[in-house]
Amino acid sequence: MTEPVRILVPNPGAMTLEGTNTWILPGAGGTPAIVIDPGPSDFGHLNRVRAACPDGISEIWITHGHADHVGGAMRLAEWTGSPIRAYDPAISMTDPLRDGERGQVGGNAVICVTLPGHTRDSIGFIVFLDDGPVLFCGDTILGRGTTQISWPDGNLAQYLATLDKMERLVQLFRVRRLMPGHGPVIMEPTATIRAYREHRLQRLDQIRAAYQKGHTSVAALVDAVYGDLVGPTQKAAELTVRAQLEYLELT
Ligand SMILES: [Zn+2]
Repeated sequence: MTEPVRILVPNPGAMTLEGTNTWILPGAGGTPAIVIDPGPSDFGHLNRVRAACPDGISEIWITHGHADHVGGAMRLAEWTGSPIRAYDPAISMTDPLRDGERGQVGGNAVICVTLPGHTRDSIGFIVFLDDGPVLFCGDTILGRGTTQISWPDGNLAQYLATLDKMERLVQLFRVRRLMPGHGPVIMEPTATIRAYREHRLQRLDQIRAAYQKGHTSVAALVDAVYGDLVGPTQKAAELTVRAQLEYLELT
């Protein structure tokens, strides 16, 4: 396979960084491509995605069910006749993606790996490129900053277990790069996964300490631990605080 192609959705924002990354795994020798996360329902973007797949699209894969990743999938499926596949059977048009499922694209092997935590249905794809494996990780790890735990669908215990699983997979397969759903490609997978774990554990310490000082409401904990936030980042912090309270059994 030639290198995966990123097509950036023009939906930049506090939660989406530069925008959602749509990834195309090109076919080889005139075979169809796989599209990972078509993004939201944006005609111009979906047209660019289709144009970047001149030999067609065999399947549309979804890393998780958030609208900035899946919102345009149905339209792309209608345009191209390609089925949508996701971990969530409610999103899949054919067999849902399974943990450990193996496949091929462009002559390269692919393994699906479930990554629950950001959402319950998060799944990633290890693709064995000619110069080594890479892991498409959706919003489990972002190219910059940290990810939210989308409580109550997201779950912090699952997320921490997923970080452990990712670190093991990176070691096992010698994964060279993480290809996130937002932001730049991550060139140091192990260090980044460890930094994410460290950050989550630090936040838990901060939440525990603030709670013991009497900041027991979600709003007070967001203020105490995350400081002054507005708009979508505040909402994300609230959900992540709720996920942390659940994890610490303080609810
Ligand atoms: Zn996203």
